[in-house]
Amino acid sequence: MELLAKTKGEEFQDAALRLFNIAAEHLNLDSGIREKLKWPKRELTVHFPVKMDDGSIHVFVGYRVQHNVTRGPAKGGIRYHPDVTLEEVRALAALMTWKCAVVNVPFGGAKGGVRCDPKKMSLRELEGLTRRYTTEISVFLGPESDIPAPDVYTNAQTMAWIMDTYSMHKGYSVPGVVTGKPIAIGGSLGRKEATARGCVFTIQEAARELGLDLSRATAVIQGYGNAGSIAAMLLHELGVRIIAVSDSRGGAFNPKGIDPARALEHKGKTGTVATFPEADRIGNQELLELPCDLLVPAALEGVITKENAPRIKARILAEAANGPTTPEADPILFANNVYVIPDILANAGGVTVSYFEWVQNLEMLHWSEDDVNRRLRDIMTRSFQEVREIAAKERVDMRTAAYILAVGRVAEATLLRGVYP
Ligand code: NAD
Repeated sequence: MELLAKTKGEEFQDAALRLFNIAAEHLNLDSGIREKLKWPKRELTVHFPVKMDDGSIHVFVGYRVQHNVTRGPAKGGIRYHPDVTLEEVRALAALMTWKCAVVNVPFGGAKGGVRCDPKKMSLRELEGLTRRYTTEISVFLGPESDIPAPDVYTNAQTMAWIMDTYSMHKGYSVPGVVTGKPIAIGGSLGRKEATARGCVFTIQEAARELGLDLSRATAVIQGYGNAGSIAAMLLHELGVRIIAVSDSRGGAFNPKGIDPARALEHKGKTGTVATFPEADRIGNQELLELPCDLLVPAALEGVITKENAPRIKARILAEAANGPTTPEADPILFANNVYVIPDILANAGGVTVSYFEWVQNLEMLHWSEDDVNRRLRDIMTRSFQEVREIAAKERVDMRTAAYILAVGRVAEATLLRGVYP
């Protein structure tokens, strides 16, 4: 009998579990605790109708998975994409548990997603979809239980609709139910830039360790949304030459450098960076293999595999995206001296400032942007050094070290709380 090939979501889920198992082995975790940490706490699948602009009714499928809430409320983004599956959301929810633990913010992990093609939907349809999906998953949501944030193809506007829908049901405004909101309704200064800024802080730490002068470095960025475009601009400010950028429609390459703000402006006007006039076109695969100092995948999972890993020439691979590297690619990168800053560390700036936003909402306070960025830098550099120390002590790569730190923290909390009843 022919074995069925695994879907991308199933492969991602396997990858997340594999990394967890390696850390659990290092930590010598009891098998019962291992089982507890491996499985998601709750999974909700919802099928819900949305009235489309042409008067038809379309039924969408959506998910919200809470992986673990031992260290605090469930936290994690919501993704709108045609390829969303329960397995993908499950893997992303687990990553959120480990990510919150790496940076030691008091949250558990969750993720949500709706299978849809937001590029083919009007703003009104997206609002209808968001409000109905929020209502369907509202049994999970709340500032003390489960707090969504933006992810692929969702943004501050999506969060505003979620906050409003939830608040309408309650009868009063509840800003703390989501993070990544617009500033005018309780969003935090610096949240929009936080994922990219946090990633750049970790790049600075890695560069210092390698003796790499960033003002002479080159970078390649895959994905030109929130994480990718802002990372490009922050790196550019540090003097890094951005030689290639891309989005879902392809890439633009210029070895002399691309002005990231102008590339974003071009994407705003035309819908893609691929046709940026001051560069040559390049494919998304080819782009990953360009000689460069910094490679920043900032789109989707599973793009660096055992096939292309031997051809990755970057000195530092900073995973702004979640799960861009498959487990089979990791040892190849390690053997080739590519310094990998793993996703659960490299992109944890987003959830860190989400935590700041939530704290400000609960306390009804506003922090200055400098205050937010200073606190973010402290947490990112401290977390980087903690992971680095484990990597050196245990003689493991940075990803394994980050998982050892994270799984160890969640295991400790689990043991302290005990098994109910
Ligand atoms: P976004 O929707 O703002 O941007 C996604 C970008 O990826 C777009 O430019 C899109 O065109 C591009 N893209 C989509 N498919 C692609 C493909 N096949 N090849 C190349 N590019 C492609 O999303 P985002 O919020 O920037 O998220 C990007 C990644 O960062 C995701 O993996 C997400 O989980 C991760 N992340 C985001 C945050 C956050 O705060 N937004 C936090 C942590 C991690």
